Amino acid sequence: MKTLKITDEKLCTGCQLCVLACSRKIEKGVSVKGSYLRVLPTGATSYKVLIDQGKMTPELAEYCVLYCPKHLLMVSDDDTG
Ligand code: SF4
Repeated sequence: MKTLKITDEKLCTGCQLCVLACSRKIEKGVSVKGSYLRVLPTGATSYKVLIDQGKMTPELAEYCVLYCPKHLLMVSDDDTG
């Protein structure tokens, strides 16, 4: 099944745009808490992108990809990373 993946987490700026786009699309408002994505700081300039794969749909993944200004998100098959 197609889902959302991050290509190179090291380049993530922590801008949260993907998080907010996801929450808006699933009609939770523009909210960090309502999103199926989480972007958490792991250091001064490093971030961990967590994606709730159990809730992500192909349509939602395609939508979220559009909002990363660094083009770090992609739609991929589950088993191809
Ligand atoms: S939109 Fe891209 S750069 Fe911004 S937090 Fe999400 S993955 Fe990171």
